[in-house]
Amino acid sequence: AVRLEAVTKLFDGRAVVDEVSLDVASREILSLVGASGCGKSTLLRLVSGLERPDGGAVSLAGEVVAGPSVFVEPERRGVGFIFQDYALFPHLTVARNVRYGLQGLSAREAADVADDMLERVGLKEFGQRYPHMLSGGEQQRVALARALAPKPRVLLLDEPFSNLDRRLGETVRTRTLALIRELGAAAILVTHDPQEAMASGDRVALMRRGRLVQIGRPEDLYDRPASREAADFFAAAT
Ligand code: ATP
Ligand code: MG
Repeated sequence: AVRLEAVTKLFDGRAVVDEVSLDVASREILSLVGASGCGKSTLLRLVSGLERPDGGAVSLAGEVVAGPSVFVEPERRGVGFIFQDYALFPHLTVARNVRYGLQGLSAREAADVADDMLERVGLKEFGQRYPHMLSGGEQQRVALARALAPKPRVLLLDEPFSNLDRRLGETVRTRTLALIRELGAAAILVTHDPQEAMASGDRVALMRRGRLVQIGRPEDLYDRPASREAADFFAAAT
């Protein structure tokens, strides 16, 4: 459902994403890993339409959404996005934040979906609060609920569990992955945590300095790392 063909993004003449090609199928979760600054968030922003590629093409469900002569605006891509910094709307209540992408539904239906999503992330009682009244981990869970509520076909998750302690992180991760499978969405999950990458992804992709250096099933990367860096990263997953 997601296809990148030789996608390149330059900042100040430097290729921050460097001819990356990859496919993520519907019902597939791809973990995306690599050192800080290697281009993971930029890659997600290229798929969501928050950045324009300088080369190559991005397709969603077989339709080119970014290429030499095409650019589909982010709001028309049907992509759910969880930002590394959550990016909740500060002036809207939690419930309004979650309902944000549900303009197509009646007020009643939207309220029901928002309630259901907040319950799934364990924040049932928080609907009337404002983001500044929440802890970082709570804000992160609201961002998850907001991204999942419109039932997108493509989900981009940038470190979505990083601010949760181990136990809560496990619970929220399990529920989120189950929900993604339920939706039949294609998902790209960025994480710094080797264990989370291996446990969550059907496949794992490793980036280094803007390039995709290895992609495969978790056990294949673990058994046959293509570089010293990959070996070190995946050894930490045991
Ligand atoms: P982290 O794991 O720390 O979140 P990342 O892999 O997500 O890192 P990116 O945010 O994609 O990394 O950034 C990749 C590189 O591009 C970094 O060197 C960053 O400084 C640079 N960069 C990102 N956005 C811009 C921008 N708008 N202008 C200039 N440089 C940028
Ligand atoms: Mg990032």
